[in-house]
Amino acid sequence: NLGDAHNEGFDSLQEKLEEKLHLFRNTPIIIYCSDHEKVDDFIHSSGQITDWNRKTFFNWSLKKDASLSISGIFKNKSGCSVKAAFENREIEIHIPFSDDASIENAIHCWCLLLCLGISDNEVQQRMALLQPVAMRLEMKKAINGCSVINDSYSADLQSLAIALDFLGQQKQHAGRTVILSDLLQTGKSPANLYVEISQALQQHAVQRLIGIGETIYTYRHAFDNAGLTQMEFYPSLADYRKNFNPSQFRNEAILVKGARVFHLETISKMLEQQVHQTQLEINLNALVFNLNAFRKKIKPGTRVMAMVKASSYGGGSYEIANALKFHQVDYLAVAYADEGVELRKGGITLPVMVMNTDEEAFESIIQYSLEPEIYSPDLLRSFVTFLDNNGIDQYGVHLEIETGMNRLGFSLTELRDCLPILQKSGLVVKSVFSHLVSSEDPAFDDFTRTQATLFEQACTLLSTHLPYPYIRHLVNSSGVVRHPSLHYDMVRIGIGLYGTGIKGIQLQEVSLLRSTIAQLKQVKAGESVSYGRSGVVHRDSVIATVRIGYADGYPRVLGNGRGRMAIGKQLVPTIGNICMDMTMIDVTGLEGLKEGEDVTVFGGKVPVEQIAEWAGTIPYEILTGISQRVQRVYYEE
Ligand SMILES: *Cc1c(COP(=O)(O)O)cnc(C)c1O
Repeated sequence: NLGDAHNEGFDSLQEKLEEKLHLFRNTPIIIYCSDHEKVDDFIHSSGQITDWNRKTFFNWSLKKDASLSISGIFKNKSGCSVKAAFENREIEIHIPFSDDASIENAIHCWCLLLCLGISDNEVQQRMALLQPVAMRLEMKKAINGCSVINDSYSADLQSLAIALDFLGQQKQHAGRTVILSDLLQTGKSPANLYVEISQALQQHAVQRLIGIGETIYTYRHAFDNAGLTQMEFYPSLADYRKNFNPSQFRNEAILVKGARVFHLETISKMLEQQVHQTQLEINLNALVFNLNAFRKKIKPGTRVMAMVKASSYGGGSYEIANALKFHQVDYLAVAYADEGVELRKGGITLPVMVMNTDEEAFESIIQYSLEPEIYSPDLLRSFVTFLDNNGIDQYGVHLEIETGMNRLGFSLTELRDCLPILQKSGLVVKSVFSHLVSSEDPAFDDFTRTQATLFEQACTLLSTHLPYPYIRHLVNSSGVVRHPSLHYDMVRIGIGLYGTGIKGIQLQEVSLLRSTIAQLKQVKAGESVSYGRSGVVHRDSVIATVRIGYADGYPRVLGNGRGRMAIGKQLVPTIGNICMDMTMIDVTGLEGLKEGEDVTVFGGKVPVEQIAEWAGTIPYEILTGISQRVQRVYYEE
C-alpha cells in the first residue's frame, strides 16, 4: 500500500515507493492493489530490485483482471459485502467495515489468507471478528496532579507497545501506572502473552499495574519479575470499581488500556478532572509533522531550537516539550525563567534558553540549569557578579545582538566594549543570535539582509576574541522558509510548529478549540439576544448558547456576527455581544441540532488564520490568548 503517511523526508511519492520496495527485497511474495497505478506501473516496469523476477505478485483490483478480481463492493448497515473472482470461482465475503480505508486493509488481508490457502469459510469467520482500531491516544489532566492516557478501545500487543511508548514520553510525573484489561485474540498462549507484557512494562519503567479481567487475574504471577513496586488484579471491572480509591493516585501518568468489552473508559472518566466542556485539542502527530517539514528545509547538521514560550504558543508546557524532546530538537526557548522552571519540574532535561532575564531570576536560573539570554552590558555585569559571588564557573549564556528590532540586544559598540568581560568571566557563550523584524515580507528583504550583515559583523568580532566556537542563529519560522542562506548553525521555530501563520511550507493544523451547546432557544422575531439588546432577531430564530466566552480567550470583537463557529460542516454566525463565559450563535435552519452538541470554535472549518483576520489580529495572539481554564487534550493518532 502506498498512502500519505510518512511523506516527510521524500521528495515524491515515487521516491517513497522505491524506498518502500527496497524493504521487500527479500520477500518471496508481494501483495498489492493494482488500482494504485504508481505501484502497478513500478512493479511492471521494474528490473531495479535484485531478484525481482523471482518474486510472486498477488494483486487485487476493482477495475481489471487480477489475482483477486473484485466485481463489486456493496455497503450495508453492518459493513459491506465484497464479491470477487479467484481461481475460476466466485467468492463473496462480508467485511464489518464501511469506510474505504478499512475495506482496503481487509481486502489486503484477504489476499494474504488466499495466498496461504485458508478456506473461504474460515476467512469469513475471521473477518466477522475484526474490530475497528481506535487510532487515537488521548491524554488529559487528571485528579491529584496526574495525567491520564485513555486508550480503552483496543487491546492487542502492538497497540499496547504504542501506548507504552507514549506513556514513556511523559516525563512530567514521578510515577507510571498501567491499568490493563485482558488482551484478546493475540494468538498467543496466555502464559507467553503475559510474560511478554510483563517485559514490556519493565522496559518502560512502569511502577504499578492494575490488571482487570479473568485471564490477567489468573496469570498475575507472570508479573512477579516486572520490577513493579505495586500490583493489583481484579477478575472484573465491577470488582475493581468496588475498590477504586482516587487518593491512591498522585502525581503519576496513568495509562488506561483495554479491550472495548471491558469498558475501562469508565475508569478514565473517574480519573479525569471535571472541567467545563470547552477544550483545546492538540494533535501531537501534526506537531511532529511540522517539525519534520521544517527539518526538510534545513541542511543536515543545522540545529533546531523550538520556541515554547507562552506555554508553547498556548498549547501547553511540558506536554509539548516532551514530544519535541522525543523527536530530538536541540534546544528549547522560553520567554521567562518561570516557564523554564515549569519545564524542568515537568522532567524536561533539554537545554533551555530564557530570553527575558533579570536579577530576580538569577537564583532560579542557576538552580534549574537554565541558560539566560544576555542582552545588555548591565545585565552582563550583574550576571557575572552573581556567578562570581556564588563561585560558579563556565556557565552557559546566549548573547542577543541588536540588528534592527530595537527590542533587546547589544549594539555592536556595546558588544565591543564588553569583550574584555566576556573573555575573562566565568561564563561561556553558547550561542549568539539576533531576530529578524520582517522575515515573512518580501518588501523588507533588503532590511533583512542589512540585519544579517550586522549580525555577521558581531559574530566576526566575537570569533576573533573568544577562544571557542559558539552557535549562530538568526531566523524564525518564516525566515527558515524564505531565507535559506541565513540559517547559520541553528534555526528558531515557533509559530510554524503549531501549524499556522506562515506561508510557503505545507504544515498540519495542530490545535482545535471545541466547545458544546449549553442550551437551544426559540427566539421570536423582534426579541433580542445578549447584553445591551445587542443581537436583534429579525425572524423567528433558533439561538444556541455555547460554553465559551471572552474569559476563555474568545475575542469579544467577534460578537454580533463578526465571528463564526462550525457545527458539523456548517458555519454559523455569532449573535449579540460575546459574554464572559458564553457566546450565542444563530443556528436557525440547522436540522437535528441537540443540546450538548459539539461546536468548533477554531480549527478545521474555521482556521485560526480566519479567526485572527475577523478579529483584526494575528494567529499568535489568538493561540496564546486561550485561557488556562480551557482544558488541553493531547492526542496521537
Ligand atoms: C518568538 C520568537 C521566535 C519564533 O518566531 P516564530 O515567528 O513564531 O517562528 C524566534 N526568535 C525569537 C527571538 C522569538 O522571540
